[in-house]
Amino acid sequence: MAESGRGIRTILLGPPGAGKGTTAPKLVSEHEICHLSTGDMLREEIASGSKLGQEVKTVISEGRLVSDEIVCEMIKNNLSKPACQRGFVLDGFPRTVGQADKLNFMLKENGTPLDSVVEFKIDDAVLVERICGRLVHKPSGRSYHTKFAPPKIPMKDDVTGEPLMRRSDDNEESLKVRLSAYHAQTSPLAAYYGERNVHCPVNADMPAKDVFSAVQACFANKKN
Ligand code: ADP
Ligand code: AMP
Repeated sequence: MAESGRGIRTILLGPPGAGKGTTAPKLVSEHEICHLSTGDMLREEIASGSKLGQEVKTVISEGRLVSDEIVCEMIKNNLSKPACQRGFVLDGFPRTVGQADKLNFMLKENGTPLDSVVEFKIDDAVLVERICGRLVHKPSGRSYHTKFAPPKIPMKDDVTGEPLMRRSDDNEESLKVRLSAYHAQTSPLAAYYGERNVHCPVNADMPAKDVFSAVQACFANKKN
């Protein structure tokens, strides 16, 4: 693919709090690719006050999944952007077999097959503490943790000094719904991509730097 041998096309698959959003920006700088997070795109819609944002607000706050049509359209519109020319990391998409089928169709049309689908494997019990301590810098999407990855100055982004916030769906009640949606609708995608020989499981219950090394190993055999 990319002339310099850099660039990858990948999906990060895993339950809420598994570390997808922590890993994606590192892949972006390492491989010069774009980061497409459907969760970030949906939150931007809500913040913009658009009709679509108003429609999805309640669904997201309750932890349910928004419709396949809405998220597939967002991904389609973004994949063709110049920032994604060298490759992409999809974070939080696809989340259903229907979304995965639609993505296959798009990638086939573009002639851009996936290199690897990284599955973040972690027990549900670990995720409550991760989710309930998550802090985010909204403009950049950078995420911190009160205990595991605290910012240098409390509640301030390390890079810009701007305030950090908590996501409104990062509470135990919504997490329960998000986890059951994950197990029922998203986890079958591990076997789905296994059948297509691109599934790469990693242990996500390790320090973030070790998780990143394990993720990078998924691309070690990629043909450039
Ligand atoms: P996801 O994008 O999969 O929902 P995040 O990457 O936002 O998850 O991580 C959720 C929370 O857990 C964040 O507060 C993040 O700082 C923290 N976190 C991420 N990876 C690790 C790790 N390997 N060990 C401990 N905490 C982590
Ligand atoms: P995330 O930021 O990935 O944790 O997503 C936050 C919320 O946005 C989810 O709980 C869903 O309500 C919604 N969402 C994000 N991505 C998708 C998707 N691919 N399909 C359906 N709903 C999604």
